[in-house]
Amino acid sequence: MKKIIFYLLILCTSLFAVQEYEVFIRQYQNSDGKLFVTLRKWRDKEEIKYLLADTQTLQTAIATLQSHQLFPLDARFEKTNFAHILYQKGVLSEAIAPVSKSIFLTMDMCPSQKKGYESEFIARLTQQNGKTPIAIAITSKWIENHEDAFKEIAQNPQLDITWINHSHTHFYDKLLKDHENFMLHVSTDVKKEVLELEKTLIQRGVTPSIFFRFPGLIFDEKLLKKIKETYFLVPIGSHAWVAKNEKIQNGSIILIHGNKNEPQGIEMLEEKLPSLVKKYTFKSLAEAFQ
Ligand SMILES: [Zn+2]
Repeated sequence: MKKIIFYLLILCTSLFAVQEYEVFIRQYQNSDGKLFVTLRKWRDKEEIKYLLADTQTLQTAIATLQSHQLFPLDARFEKTNFAHILYQKGVLSEAIAPVSKSIFLTMDMCPSQKKGYESEFIARLTQQNGKTPIAIAITSKWIENHEDAFKEIAQNPQLDITWINHSHTHFYDKLLKDHENFMLHVSTDVKKEVLELEKTLIQRGVTPSIFFRFPGLIFDEKLLKKIKETYFLVPIGSHAWVAKNEKIQNGSIILIHGNKNEPQGIEMLEEKLPSLVKKYTFKSLAEAFQ
């Protein structure tokens, strides 16, 4: 028992404090004239912190800001790249900006009972391609059951990671039809699904991105609208789900699973790697939309 309390204490002190976490949409212009949007606000002990997005590059950062520098969104925001992709119809499944010989790798970490992750694949990918941009669609449930593996991925110097919000619990019941499953289940608390995953990342020193992927890629218009208009997140789909043999081409957002639940997709992508690396450059997800 003493040992458990000891480890709990270590765990608690190693986490960043995230209190009063809330959606907080304001614009902020820095001294260079660059426009940012704050997405969230919280208290970290005595400090107020913000998650903010660069409206042009779509990169996010955590910062402390002066509250008098923050204003409601105005016409300047409407003209930004961020607004442009937020107002696109549906989910984004491939690059919408012209890209040349570029592909975008995304890897889902849905909850899984399997130990570890596709670490050998990651090793082979980075051996062949060098430091590789990858977008990881992550769930709190996977992180909480794989703390060491999560740390290993997050700290891998050979990966340049964009963290996609893939929900807190990623509810799934194999007996239910799609239209009442995943986040369309009657008991879904959308706010909790979105914000708790972000908190889980921030507590571990990791910065969430502006991207969201619906569990099971299942959603309806109402949920889609909420994700975009309330949470200012950009939903990401895929046109190249490798295990479903969907074709990888220029601008593709590739989908594999890194939680060991879909080894056939990993094997198939590994086979294609030598030719993909020759033909294309792996780019970070934000570059698909600039
Ligand atoms: Zn999933």
